[in-house]
Amino acid sequence: MSIEVKNVFKYYGEQAALNDVSFKVNSGEIIGFLGPNGAGKSTMMKIITCFIPKSAGTVKVCGLDVEEHSIEVRKKVGYLPEHNPLYLDMYVKEYLSFVAGIYKIPNRKERVQEMIKKVGLEKEQNKKIGALSKGYRQRVGLAQAIIHDPEVLILDEPTSGLDPNQLVDIRKLIIEIGKTKTVMLSTHIMQEVEAICDRVIIIKEGTIVADNSAKEIQQKDVEKQTILVEFDKNCSRNQLRQIPGVKSVKQVDDNKWVFLGAGDVRPEIAKFAQRESLLILAMSIEEKSMEEVFKELTQN
Ligand code: ADP
Ligand code: MG
Repeated sequence: MSIEVKNVFKYYGEQAALNDVSFKVNSGEIIGFLGPNGAGKSTMMKIITCFIPKSAGTVKVCGLDVEEHSIEVRKKVGYLPEHNPLYLDMYVKEYLSFVAGIYKIPNRKERVQEMIKKVGLEKEQNKKIGALSKGYRQRVGLAQAIIHDPEVLILDEPTSGLDPNQLVDIRKLIIEIGKTKTVMLSTHIMQEVEAICDRVIIIKEGTIVADNSAKEIQQKDVEKQTILVEFDKNCSRNQLRQIPGVKSVKQVDDNKWVFLGAGDVRPEIAKFAQRESLLILAMSIEEKSMEEVFKELTQN
């Protein structure tokens, strides 16, 4: 187990930013930590990376308690903070060498070169960080996060503020880096989760509202599964409503119907058709987009 969060609370004064949060991340997983602004994503990540203390609960990284073994935990965790606070007056190479020094990495020069190559900063390596575009600054941020070869990578909104091309590049880089590490990345962009993550944890107002594979979350709200069916001839709406599991039926065209079912009622529709000697010309299930599911889970 790479990350274990159990019954964590965090108060800023009176306000509870995290309210009894529990989840686990297995080693090797890339998980998306999804939630609207102010949900508590950054707060959770700062606790995992030992930047701020929790108010209650336990957090372990690679089996080590973040408070009892904070130095060990920092060695095992790479962190790209939300507002990546880079030293804009430093040169790329100088900065990475400085970070390598903090971690007391041997063969510092080689390691810095290795990182520059890994994140695609060869052309920019002699520039000041302040002269780089946001996309390249994020590459520097990723390089500093992985320079000490951590097992776990915590990326707080790593693609926010990037243009579409930079976004694709950084996602690719995260997927590449994620092949050998456990990655937890926060985002408020649904497509990001679909593009990168194995699993998604959704947080809303400091509480976890979903924790599942991306696919399962899409299928979670089966109450409203929509199925479009075209028969070869007409039939009565009353008959169709008798099909087990069907909640409602709407006619959209001559022989075309939209079913709203509790779960996947396609097998029942097929049985009905056979019984009534109807041919099914088309049948499709409409999966909800992550975006719709996210909205449903995080809006009141
Ligand atoms: P997210 O990263 O999901 O946008 P945050 O973890 O930054 O959410 O914030 C969660 C809640 O905690 C918000 O309501 C925010 O205003 C509050 N908060 C975050 N940091 C502080 C702080 N240092 N002091 C007081 N309140 C804070
Ligand atoms: Mg945040």
